[in-house]
Order: sequence, then C-alpha cells, then structure tokens
Amino acid sequence: MSDTPKRATQAVWAGEERSLIQHATQVPVVKSVAFSYDDLDHWRDVALGDAPGHIYGRNTNPTVDVFEEKVRILEGAEAATSFATGMAAISNVLLTFLRPGLRVVSIKDSYGGTSKIFLEDLPAFGVDVTLCDTLDVDALEREIDRGLDLLYLESPTNPTVKIVDIERLAGKARERGAITVVDNTFATPINQHPLELGADLVLHSATKFLGGHADALGGVLAGRADLVERVFARREIHGATLHPEAAYLLLRGMKTLALRVERQNASALALAQWLQTHPAVANVHYPGLPSHPNHDVAVRQMPGGFGAMFSFELHGGFDAVREVLPRLRFAHCAANLGAVETTVAPPRTGSHVELTTEQRAALGIPEGLIRYSTGIEDVADLMADLEQALASLTTA
Ligand SMILES: *Cc1c(COP(=O)(O)O)cnc(C)c1O
Repeated sequence: MSDTPKRATQAVWAGEERSLIQHATQVPVVKSVAFSYDDLDHWRDVALGDAPGHIYGRNTNPTVDVFEEKVRILEGAEAATSFATGMAAISNVLLTFLRPGLRVVSIKDSYGGTSKIFLEDLPAFGVDVTLCDTLDVDALEREIDRGLDLLYLESPTNPTVKIVDIERLAGKARERGAITVVDNTFATPINQHPLELGADLVLHSATKFLGGHADALGGVLAGRADLVERVFARREIHGATLHPEAAYLLLRGMKTLALRVERQNASALALAQWLQTHPAVANVHYPGLPSHPNHDVAVRQMPGGFGAMFSFELHGGFDAVREVLPRLRFAHCAANLGAVETTVAPPRTGSHVELTTEQRAALGIPEGLIRYSTGIEDVADLMADLEQALASLTTA
C-alpha cells in the first residue's frame, strides 16, 4: 500500500498540516501587505530567497501559499502559483510563453475569455494563433506536426462538453518540443489529472468547482517547477494577485471538493440519462453517456467521473428555453458554474451572448441549448424540478 493519501484526504489536509499561528487548526487570513525583518541581513536573505519569508503582498502571502500548496498536491505537481481570477491565470500563462513569431495551437471551443485572447490580443502581438475544430483530432495533429511552441487545451469544453484527447495531443506536442497547458476547470482534480496525461501545466478558474460556493474569484496554475516559476515572475510584476480573503474562502471550499464532486458526478449522470428519454429534449451532451462522440476517451482520461456539467437541447428552440428556465425552483439562472447550487444558462444570454444566431450555429450551439451545472441538491428534487418545468412544453 502506498502512503500517499487519496485526493479526498488531500483536499482536507494538504498544505494545512503545519498550523500557521498559535496552533490554530484553521488557516489564518493574513492581511498584512508588507512583512518586516530583524535586520537588513535578514531582509536581504529573504529578498534573495536564501531564507524563508515574505516581502510584499503582490508577490507572496502566507494564506495564499497554503491555497497554492493544496492545489499543487491535488494536481500532483512540482509547483503551483495563484491569480486573482481564472482569466488572470490564463492571460499570464499565454503572455509568459508567447512572443512575436511564436505559435500556439488550440481548439475553437475554449472558454469565451480565452477565445478573445486568441482572436484579439495574441494576433495583435504578432503571435501565430491556429484554432482547430475541437473534435477534429487529425487537424490538431497536423497543426502540431507543422511545429508550435504551445498547445492549449480544455476538456470538457463549454457548453457542449466536448472531450479532447489530452494524452494523445500532449504526447505529440512534446515530440515537437512544445509545452502543453490544460484548463481543467470543468473536470476538477478529482475527475481528471492532466499532468499524468502528459501536460506540462494545468490551470483552473478556482472561482468554480475548487471554491465551490460562488463567493470568491480566483485562478491557479500547477505543473513543472521551471515553467510555474517563469509565470510567477511575470504575475508578481503584472499584479493579478489572489487576495488572502479569497484564498481563505477557496481553501475552505476545497475541503469538501471530493464530496461535492462525487455527488455532482452521480447526479449529473442520472439527470443526463433521464433527460435523454424526455419527449421535450432533442439532445443531451454529457461525456458519461455512451452516445457522446468521445465517450471512450472520457472513460480513459476521466477516472474520477464525468463531472457536473452537461447541456441539453429543447425541441422548441429559444422560446422553449425562455419558458422553462424561470420555472426551475432549484436552479439559479446565472453565469457561473461549479457551485453547490445548481445553475442553468442558455449560451444565447450567457457564454456566447455576443455572437449572432448564425455564429452560434457555426460553433454547433443551437438556440434551444441549456447548460446545466449540477449542484449538490438531492437528485430526486432536481429531477422533479426539471420534470415540472418541462411539463408545460409537452402538454402545450
Ligand atoms: C470561468 C472559467 C474561466 C475564467 O475564470 P474566471 O475565474 O471567471 O476568470 C476559465 N476557464 C473556464 C473553463 C471557466 O469555466
């Protein structure tokens, strides 16, 4: 038997085994912006990294350190660093490794903010950006074979929960000398371990499942120490630092990460299976369903479960969505996801609000689609709630 604790244990204990002050059992929120020294030799030693300690809150903070350490251990990484938001993690990573003339390959279905960086910011800086159809693995391999500096993946994707074969593509990118970065937000470290699949860096919007309570923004990056170190060196200058209060809330939320995700995995699978049989529903997208186009890849690369996120399409298009969503009692109509409460969002008013109907259709996002982030409520209540909300559609 290995002595390495399981992830449910790590979620509770990792990073917290050494209490920070006065034998407190909970991590204190250290709000001090600056830290002082016994004498100038001590200050110099801390500043040069020859002695442990902190200098200034934009660089490091004791509460934030614990959050980073917990994620580092959960992701099985050499190092981790944190950010004010998930988008700060993503933008700092891309700005650290990409320069004019360098090349990034990614998928068309990445998170909306990430897409904007690929389509607007990076081309303006002279970075060569190639976005492939998410499910076209041959095109992705061809573009990787042409040579690249960074491969950026996300799986499952938003909102149609497509699955990208991380191991296959990261292996190919490595042969070309490129680094692979994976946004693991939808999967969580409970369900999917990108570093074990060959990725060099994994990142999260901690705002979502890691925190789990929709009350704190944050981002985090984990992976190879030399690479994390380079991103940290930019972040401490660029200044998108995680606030210690947010770090505390994220840490507190993470203690129940495994419990929450196990419940959400089971409930999402049950709801997706049931919705498939519902007469008002045209289509259900969930990697746990055998009908999902990449179910076999999902089975291989998501050993913990298929996650809380699924989407389904109503026969009645957007008019049906408009009618059904306000009827749900146990679901917020809200832009976030990954919380203890169920949240629902139509791409038309949520993640893809700025696109036209035609542009959404080109991305394979029909007007009748609903993104469902399964919470931790009792699944029987969630099912009954969906049933009553959908009933009007089939009787009308
Ligand atoms: C929300 C989200 C982000 C951005 O995170 P913020 O914390 O909102 O900045 C990035 N990737 C995915 C997959 C997300 O769901």
